Amino acid sequence: MPRKKKVLVFEAHGDDMEFTCGGTIAKFVDRGHEVALVVATDNDKGSFELSADELRAARDREVHGAARVLGVSKVICLGYPDGELQEKAPPHVLRGQFMRIIREVRPDIMFTWDPFTPYEGHPDHRTVAWAAHEAVSFAHFPLYYPEQVKEGLEPHYVGEQWFFAKAPRDVNKVVDISDYIDKKIQALCQHESQMVLTVAGFQFDLRASGLRLPELENLDPHDYEAAIDRRVRAIARAVGRQHGFEYAEPFRRTRFGGIERFAPDQELEEDV
Ligand SMILES: [Zn+2]
Repeated sequence: MPRKKKVLVFEAHGDDMEFTCGGTIAKFVDRGHEVALVVATDNDKGSFELSADELRAARDREVHGAARVLGVSKVICLGYPDGELQEKAPPHVLRGQFMRIIREVRPDIMFTWDPFTPYEGHPDHRTVAWAAHEAVSFAHFPLYYPEQVKEGLEPHYVGEQWFFAKAPRDVNKVVDISDYIDKKIQALCQHESQMVLTVAGFQFDLRASGLRLPELENLDPHDYEAAIDRRVRAIARAVGRQHGFEYAEPFRRTRFGGIERFAPDQELEEDV
């Protein structure tokens, strides 16, 4: 029986985790592992219809609602303004904040955006990716942010980094989420304001393209559930098909600094 692990997810926006690894997180929880989530921004830009204040309040409710669906036990919201993370959080500051959280939560496994993937247009995703990767790589070095150690936080080693991406590269771990696709969609649909925005975004694309898809162009974005269900299943099915699963999520994963190369006759256990 594999040991129960602690998982820590760093994301920029409240729905990043659900879109990229919601099924995998649900599977970790189902296997008895414990998951905590860090949301770097307050998500206050993602709406065509709500004010920033209304949106911030809605997003807080939605983030916690989705975390409950997936079984995430702790949510830490840092509250940086959406879309402005790289200006408002200098790299040294954000890396230090992330390192503090790592030394407090003491995870075995970290999930975040892949800092090395191409075609990532969102500055918040890139900023979180670098800060999380750097923080996790050095959190066990006591001379990094030594003031945290003086306060009594122990340095902490994180063995595994799992990276998700819009355009994944060098995928070396694919998780079968066939039993968790419904939960992933259910969690995503808790993010009502963002799913309305997603469908409205499809409609922008459609109008600009001149193509005709009557069922989408006539859809009230508030009736988003069927459209989101279709999109999420199509993406997960396309990944699954290449690996013999009905639905799957892809990751680039590094484990224990590649130490297994020195023990070719032994195998690392899998947690999911
Ligand atoms: Zn995002």
